Amino acid sequence: MPHPISDDDLRFDQQHIWHPYTSMIDPLPTYPVDSADGVYLQLSDGRRLIDGMSSWWSTIHGYNHPTLNAAASEQLEAMSHVMFGGLTHQPAISLSRKLVEMSPEGLDKVFLADSGSVSVEVAIKMAIQYWQARGQSDKCRLLTIRNGYHGDTFGAMAVCDPVNGMHELFSGVLPQHLFAPAPHLGFDGSDNDEDIAALETLMEQNHQQLAALILEPIVQGAGGMRFYRPDYLQRARELCDRYNLLLIADEIATGFGRSGKLFACEHADISPDILCLGKALTGGYMTLAATLTSTEIAETISSGGAGCFMHGPTFMGNPLACSVANASLELLQSDPWQPRVERIEAGLQQGLAPCAELDSVADVRVLGAIGVVEMKQPVQMASIQRAFVDQGVWVRPFGKLVYVMPPFIISPEQLEQLTQAIHRVISTQQDTK
Ligand code: PMP
Repeated sequence: MPHPISDDDLRFDQQHIWHPYTSMIDPLPTYPVDSADGVYLQLSDGRRLIDGMSSWWSTIHGYNHPTLNAAASEQLEAMSHVMFGGLTHQPAISLSRKLVEMSPEGLDKVFLADSGSVSVEVAIKMAIQYWQARGQSDKCRLLTIRNGYHGDTFGAMAVCDPVNGMHELFSGVLPQHLFAPAPHLGFDGSDNDEDIAALETLMEQNHQQLAALILEPIVQGAGGMRFYRPDYLQRARELCDRYNLLLIADEIATGFGRSGKLFACEHADISPDILCLGKALTGGYMTLAATLTSTEIAETISSGGAGCFMHGPTFMGNPLACSVANASLELLQSDPWQPRVERIEAGLQQGLAPCAELDSVADVRVLGAIGVVEMKQPVQMASIQRAFVDQGVWVRPFGKLVYVMPPFIISPEQLEQLTQAIHRVISTQQDTK
């Protein structure tokens, strides 16, 4: 067991450790966690919080799961890591077999990457190498849609929304790609030809230099927590075929049931040419991601000048992570995840509906196990965070967005506590303005 966190440790943390997107001059408070179990985070001060975030979309089965623990311990005894160059192992083989079986049709080559951002880099490199191998090196730019978010590394930053995507600061040094307007908000909306017409115009005018369209299918995450219509995705797929662009689906957030389908692409009944997976892949135990593609793309890349795909990180196919991912996917396949997600969807709809009545709220939307309350004004992070902790829940808003995507194992009572806390905190913040 680690030592309890002292005040001195906390001071060290504030003075020496970067947390995601934080200042080293004026850091926001961080809450020390001692352990986590099921849907609960156990804080050092004795408080127990219901985790509404699934540690950023990942802990779908909850924390400290006996099956995942056992998989990690067993693998630890065998080997926690070996290089993947020239060696292979059962955890990677079993995992890749499962991914090929589960994922949308036609994706049968697997690249095991280290994190979501890296899997996006890999996807972009695959698309560029593909066209190079076909003698069309000019097709090296990307098309994407506004409000997207694909990660923090350079290739990924370049396809994040130039304003909402958190990387505006770097725009001068990033490759310049093309951005179509974001599809209109709403999973259920009626056909909107304007959206697709704008996408088509960009493809029509630029296809000779475009390698791929990259997007988050159906749910745009960190770039705005927006849901859009399946028919947009269907038509985007058709346009990619018509104008010779590969379609890269970034399902790092949506993959493994979160949107109500195993993969969000299934809402539109399409297969991408390249698929990025991460986050929930290991049930949130450790970092691992995967980029899948088709035989045709993989073989074309391999027949190009380099004779291989040019990527191979040190921790590729880490056996420990692959073992836990195997156990997580087996749990998902044996568990009734779909009724659970449906129940969460209904609970979020009901529990968050009263938020829509508040003056400070612009919109409330729910899809699968994702609930979003969009405020009219950006929230005050430190104070709202404290208010949530005081209510016994862990919710981490950003900008105008207060959103949750709880572990699939959350009970109806815990979900009610979570949604009631959101309503209470938002109402109080409104009162204190
Ligand atoms: N793509 C999407 C859709 C994401 O939500 C994220 C993470 N928020 C990433 C890519 C990047 O993944 P990672 O943080 O594991 O690098």
